[in-house]
Amino acid sequence: MDLGIRGKTALVCAASKGLGKGCAMALAKEGVSLVITARGKDALEATAEEIRKLASVKVIAITGDIATTEGRAAALAACPNPDILINNAGGPPPGDFRSWSREDWLKALDANMLTPIELIKATVDGMIARKFGRIVNITSGAVKMPIPELGLSNGARTGLTGFVAGLSRQTVAHNVTINGLLPGPFDTDRLRGNMVFNAKKLGKTPEELAKTRAEANPAKRFGTIEEFGAACAFLCSAHAGFITGQNLLMDGGAFPGTL
Ligand code: NAP
Repeated sequence: MDLGIRGKTALVCAASKGLGKGCAMALAKEGVSLVITARGKDALEATAEEIRKLASVKVIAITGDIATTEGRAAALAACPNPDILINNAGGPPPGDFRSWSREDWLKALDANMLTPIELIKATVDGMIARKFGRIVNITSGAVKMPIPELGLSNGARTGLTGFVAGLSRQTVAHNVTINGLLPGPFDTDRLRGNMVFNAKKLGKTPEELAKTRAEANPAKRFGTIEEFGAACAFLCSAHAGFITGQNLLMDGGAFPGTL
């Protein structure tokens, strides 16, 4: 299926590794030029080069922390008028809410709620004027099924989801959609980091815990960044203009509800 987005431009945040990288690769395969960001220069440059080899599209790598004003300014200077915006950043650390300070909360809100909103604010009116825009927020399955030790994530992502629920109904008449992609367990550095944290608490090795968790999923495995990227690319496609304000859970069927 031709997704109808060849020649478009995407800003993909936090894309040197993991889910952001999966989205960047899938969009590049569809002929979308990219600006990708991350804090670490080496991994980002390596990913940019990998994508250039995968698809003959322009890939610009911008090093910076997307959760800061400077990081966002650098990303937007390289990509002031994206047709596609993929909002992503590292997730907050796990822990017990009794130990979190106001600063911990502000950091989580900055990265996982206010940064996506700032980037939407900077780009959505241009999309509306050009009559095409696709915004995908990478959030978490925790939006539907909160994860006890990830309270900072549960709170910040639900805030973003609530904001987008309203805005996405105002932009869709202009062919600008905003949706959330909710990852369940995907095999990335982030997942492996959480395994280390939880394995320690349970007195298991991270490998033992990963095996148990994968077997407990209805799919009997974790998801891949390629699967995540493919779903993202479809939401960004020309065919997806009637899908907005949705929160697509990708978790191998782990969420036990019907809706
Ligand atoms: P990952 O494998 O750790 O990759 C994170 C990527 O984001 C890296 O490229 C990292 O590069 C970049 N990054 C992190 N913080 C950044 C920042 N402030 N500014 C710019 N770039 C930044 O993580 P992932 O598994 O892909 O997770 C992506 C998001 O999905 C996270 O918010 C995570 O909490 C959420 N999520 C993941 C899963 C899962 O199973 N993997 C499940 C639920 C939710 P640098 O470190 O060099 O900046």
